[in-house]
Amino acid sequence: MDNLSVTDRRIYEEELRGFLPRKIFDAHVHLFDGTCLKPGKGFAEKSVYRKFGSEFRIGQYLEWARQSLPEPEIHLNGFGQPSFISDLDASAVYSGRISDNRRFFGMALVSPKDAVEDVIQRVEANRLVGYKPYLNFVDWKAKGEITIHDMLPDAQMAAADERGLAVTLHIPRDRRLADPVNQEQMVELCRGFPGARVIFAHIGRAYYLKNVIGFLDGIAACPNAYVDTAMVNHEGVLEYTFQNFPRGRILFGTDAPIAMLRGKSVEINNQYAYLMGEDYAIGSTIYDAGHAVRFTSFYYEQLRGIKVAAQRAGLSRDEVENIFFNNADQLFRGIAGKNYGDKLCLIEKSLLSACCLFT
Ligand SMILES: [Zn+2]
Repeated sequence: MDNLSVTDRRIYEEELRGFLPRKIFDAHVHLFDGTCLKPGKGFAEKSVYRKFGSEFRIGQYLEWARQSLPEPEIHLNGFGQPSFISDLDASAVYSGRISDNRRFFGMALVSPKDAVEDVIQRVEANRLVGYKPYLNFVDWKAKGEITIHDMLPDAQMAAADERGLAVTLHIPRDRRLADPVNQEQMVELCRGFPGARVIFAHIGRAYYLKNVIGFLDGIAACPNAYVDTAMVNHEGVLEYTFQNFPRGRILFGTDAPIAMLRGKSVEINNQYAYLMGEDYAIGSTIYDAGHAVRFTSFYYEQLRGIKVAAQRAGLSRDEVENIFFNNADQLFRGIAGKNYGDKLCLIEKSLLSACCLFT
């Protein structure tokens, strides 16, 4: 992993240090090790995971944080890498192995083709707080036609509803949050399964202003709907969210390890692109091959965006701390407590975490 540059250190000292709370809960992290991949499968040449040795273990995150965020204590919710090269059962085992349901929480990856019994087993056997579907697993339709209901069959949602589990959802379709089919189905999902907590990842993937304005009202009215801020560094989108979505249901998230790369998401003519300082492909990427500018990490850009947006939206110190920590801490601890009680063997768990963290 890159060492922190002098410029990064200055950004931390001058812009972030006085703003960040004592504890940060990152609700959106992709964590997995080599055991989570199917045998013989690997990542594409420009995949970000290549940078981290084709895995991203919790210890790699904490080591990055030790250098880049030396003061805050990092808590997190992690899940594997949702793609066909991942072994979904093995990924859930890894998530469970690193979770103590106190500071570290985990989710299972699920495909809509998985039988509900298998999904329940994957979650419960590993004491996980929920699951994460992904649109690539809907492989019987053209990408632009995929709907939220295709990604999350009713039987799986009923299991989440009954157990009060969280579902982190990366919504499909080109218009993302502004798509009328999504708008309808997001609300149907929350209303139809009121016991489930639906976390709309990346603020519904709204990375430019026109994509978010007017489109949060439906889910804002559903008490079990949450948003995470992963990969959103757009201060206008963040400010709009802080003003128009209940602040108690906004969760800080980063999409680590993608967030550790050097780059920034920018709005261009009612679209967005990832301007990249490193030659990895993460979607709509524009790589600065000529090194026209010096980049810092997406992570720092997200923190900067939140800082500006929080100031503009007039967030109190408590509200900032809730978004960075308390909202997610309460949500995930509540789910773990309801499903697994206090029967965790803490000593065994802390020993396990200690050996996972530092190997
Ligand atoms: Zn993600």
